[in-house]
Amino acid sequence: DKETVSEYKKKLEIFKEDELAASKYLDRLPLLASGEEYSIGLNIGSSEPNEYIKYADFVGLFRTEFLYMESEHMPTEEEQFKAYKKVLANALGKPVTLRTLDIGGDKSLRYLVLPHEANPFLGKRALRLCLDLMDLFKTQLRAALRASAFGEMWIMFPMVGSIDDIRNAKAVVEEVKAELREEKIPFDENIKIGIMIEIPSIAMISDLAAKEVDFASIGTNDLTQYLHAVDRMNADIVDYYQSMSPSMFRMLGNIFSEFNQAGKPISVCGELAGDPVGALVMVGLGLRKLSMNASNIARVKRMLSNFSLTAMKDIAHAVKMQATQDEVIEYLEGKINSQEKITLAD
Ligand code: PEP
Ligand code: MG
Repeated sequence: DKETVSEYKKKLEIFKEDELAASKYLDRLPLLASGEEYSIGLNIGSSEPNEYIKYADFVGLFRTEFLYMESEHMPTEEEQFKAYKKVLANALGKPVTLRTLDIGGDKSLRYLVLPHEANPFLGKRALRLCLDLMDLFKTQLRAALRASAFGEMWIMFPMVGSIDDIRNAKAVVEEVKAELREEKIPFDENIKIGIMIEIPSIAMISDLAAKEVDFASIGTNDLTQYLHAVDRMNADIVDYYQSMSPSMFRMLGNIFSEFNQAGKPISVCGELAGDPVGALVMVGLGLRKLSMNASNIARVKRMLSNFSLTAMKDIAHAVKMQATQDEVIEYLEGKINSQEKITLAD
């Protein structure tokens, strides 16, 4: 309706003004006010060049779904190989985290008929589907491994719920590697294999997961959905979708601690990393690698450059002690300079 349109036009204006003000932080070094370093990742969803790669240290999430969704047929190994090689070339030598196909749930392919499911987000989605459709999975892994000879590629599996999932997926990678060796096709023998942490069952055993993988990245979009048992696509229950709840921050803090202790890289590539306030709290909880859409980089850098690590740790500790998301937000609003015009959880 008209009212909503005008309300959002106003929001857009404020957003654009702020974007301009924040843009001067784009090419600043990623340093906290107290001098500690962190790194910024870029989230991408296509093989086209992204000019913001120069402001990032790595590609923290390369969603490969576009290749499948834009195609009229199942993309061939050669088509995928070319696309992945192009992404590496466009990344200017920075590491690229390729996420294997995350289809099912809300995303479908017109050339792949899948059985109807009553609860698709709890169904045969992402890695579960790939482990079932072995040809599809192996084709993607072959293409990714072949491309890994042309730049630094990390491979990451979505929707991992157990150590079985990790072991099963890694076994397929080993099979594909063996085939490539046999065929004398080059690939990076030391390619890093990691997981997305977006299901509470794997988050709860982060210490055990860290032993099985080279790295992990947290998908806070799905983690919020599964932790709170709330459908991320249902606007009717948006109030229950609380990515800044005390439970989220406690869970995130535990994952960061376990991975930091194990000495394995941990990043966040869900939307919470691109939210300046979310980023602030998570750095206080121990996170040092944040991956986001290009449009969020400047604001996140601005926020993180304004706080010392000690201040962030204090804030993070206090956040974990709040009882509700509203209390978390109220507390954070009191801590953040109003000039930053941050719209908390908006
Ligand atoms: C996430 O779940 O946070 C994530 C990054 O993956 P997607 O949004 O593609 O499900
Ligand atoms: Mg996800």
